[in-house]
Amino acid sequence: VALRIRPMMDDEIYNGATPVAHKVDENMVVIMDPSDDLDDILRQNRSREKQYIFDVVMDAKSTQEDTYNKSCKFLIPSIMDGYNATVFAYGATGAGKTHTMLGRDENPGIMAQALTDLFDKMNESQERLIYKVTMSYLEVMHILKEGNKQRTQEPTAANKTSSRSHAVLIISVRQRNRSVLAAGMQQQYRMGKLILIDLAGSERAANTQNRGKRMVEGAHINRSLLALGNCINALSDKTGSKYVNYRDSKLTRLLKDALGGNCKTVMVAHISPASFHFEETRNTLTYADRAKNL
Ligand code: ADP
Ligand code: MG
Repeated sequence: VALRIRPMMDDEIYNGATPVAHKVDENMVVIMDPSDDLDDILRQNRSREKQYIFDVVMDAKSTQEDTYNKSCKFLIPSIMDGYNATVFAYGATGAGKTHTMLGRDENPGIMAQALTDLFDKMNESQERLIYKVTMSYLEVMHILKEGNKQRTQEPTAANKTSSRSHAVLIISVRQRNRSVLAAGMQQQYRMGKLILIDLAGSERAANTQNRGKRMVEGAHINRSLLALGNCINALSDKTGSKYVNYRDSKLTRLLKDALGGNCKTVMVAHISPASFHFEETRNTLTYADRAKNL
C-alpha cells in the first residue's frame, strides 16, 4: 500500500485551506483534525494528531517517475514471467488518482510508464523468447455510452471533471520460446496480466449532493468499492477462514484473478492535504490501512 499526498491547489490556498496531512518520513503520514477543539484536547490529554504507516509515502515532492518506480516498476519482470498483478488508484474525487494513473502527455502516469518499461524490457530480453502484448481498456460504468452531452448537463457538485466510473487498463503479455518444436510436442506459453485501475471517487454520494440518477450511480460505485473493501478484508484475514465474495460487484468479478492468490496487488491511496477534505482523507486512510495486510 502506497500513499500519495497531492500538492495544495491554488484555489484551496486562495480559499483559506490549511494543510492537515504531512509526510513524516518514507513510511509515515500524520493528519490533524482541523475541527478539534484545542482546549478539549489539552484537558483530555490526548493528541490532535493521528499517524498511519504505509509501505511508501509520497508527497508533493514526488514526481510521476518516483511514483511509478515505487509502486509499479518492480511488477514488470513478474508479468513477463507469467504472473498477474494489479495496481489501483484509490481516493476521493480530486485527490489525484487520474494524475497518477494517466497523467498528461508531457508528464505521463503509471499506465504509459508501465508500457514503456515493458517494451524496453522485452527488447532487452533473450533472443529465444517471443512476446505478444494485447491490451484492453474499459470503464465499468456505462457513463461513456451516454455521451458528452449528458455529462455537461449534469455536472456533479464535487468535481467538474466527473469521475464516477472505474477506468481499467488490462495489459496481457504472452511469452513463448522461439525454439522449433519436435513433432507431437506442445508449445509452452506463459501468460501474465497487469491490471491498472483508476477507480471512481470514493466519496459518499451525499458529499457530492447528487440527486436522482446520479445518486443511483453513486450507490453503484459505493457498492463496488464496498465489495472491493470486503474482498480486501477477507483476503487479509490471516486465518483464511473468511469467504471472499468476488461476485458482489462487477469490479470484484473483474479482479477475481488479480487479487489474492499469488498475485501482487498494489494500492496507491490518494489524499489532498487541504483541511477542507479532512473527512475524505481520514476515510481514505482508514480504507488503505485495512488493505495493508493483503
Ligand atoms: P482524481 O482523478 O482523483 O479525481 P485528479 O488526478 O483529476 O484527481 O487531480 C485533481 C487535480 O489535481 C488535477 O488538476 C490534477 O492535475 C491535480 N493534481 C493531482 N495530483 C497532483 C500532483 N501530484 N501534482 C500536481 N498536480 C496534481
Ligand atoms: Mg479522476
